[in-house]
Amino acid sequence: MNDSNRRRFLLGSLGLLGGMAMSRAHAEVLKPVITAAQARPWHLRDVVICIDPGHGGRDPGAIGPHGTYEKDVVLDIGHRLRKLIKAEAGMSPVMARDSDRYVTLEERVYFAQEHRADLFVAIHADSFPTPQPHGSSVYVFTAHGASSESAAVLAESQNRLDRSVGLGSHKDSLLSRTLFDLESHAVIDESLIFGKYIMDSITHVDPYRYTSVQRAPFVVLASPAFPSLLVETAFISNPQQERLLRSPVFRQRMAVALLKGIKGYLSQHAPQGTLLAARSAAVRALRGRV
Ligand SMILES: [Zn+2]
Repeated sequence: MNDSNRRRFLLGSLGLLGGMAMSRAHAEVLKPVITAAQARPWHLRDVVICIDPGHGGRDPGAIGPHGTYEKDVVLDIGHRLRKLIKAEAGMSPVMARDSDRYVTLEERVYFAQEHRADLFVAIHADSFPTPQPHGSSVYVFTAHGASSESAAVLAESQNRLDRSVGLGSHKDSLLSRTLFDLESHAVIDESLIFGKYIMDSITHVDPYRYTSVQRAPFVVLASPAFPSLLVETAFISNPQQERLLRSPVFRQRMAVALLKGIKGYLSQHAPQGTLLAARSAAVRALRGRV
């Protein structure tokens, strides 16, 4: 036991004993405290959450009336969310883009697959030609039948971008071949459930624009491997909402709300073999006995 561990152990023991006098000699013979990682059964892994801040590099995303770049504000929300997830037991974040660089939509999906992500959360800020629209929204993949005309337009503009900058082509790619098989896949139902948790949480930070999770053919959400969703945090084209997006307080609140939604979903739907699933099962078993 090193000095700082010993000190922590001694303080903890003294606290536990509630002021009971304990000599240093007594403390020395007790076993050292084990860390949370050591206490974890070896087979229980973390839930891996892939955070995907949209755009980046040569693609600024939408630009607000006061010159705010979508790529910058969503990257900051992503960094904040990563920090929050890192602090949670049983959850590990990975970021499909963690700096100001362009990443194709397919690279983002493959990155998440390579890192064996359990959940995928793309973070964006919405925009519209007129300044009025406001509010947050959550999208889940559909191959056809987008929730609305604007959902279809939004997805098409996102998907087209890779092609326009010449850095990716979805035609004939592995990903495009999976797109149309995905429609009836169970992962879409799971994404919708996940989306509801996120929607219910972020609406307290930026009231939800629609009454349900939206569907649109976003290439970046087209992985059959894990539930995926895209969050439009606020309208950067609306001057009031652009001001919110520029505020670190709002971005932190949004990151906290995203974490809350993720935790809410995982409390009921954590993948098998994870620490969180084992913990939920233990809580359910205890409740069953009471
Ligand atoms: Zn975007």
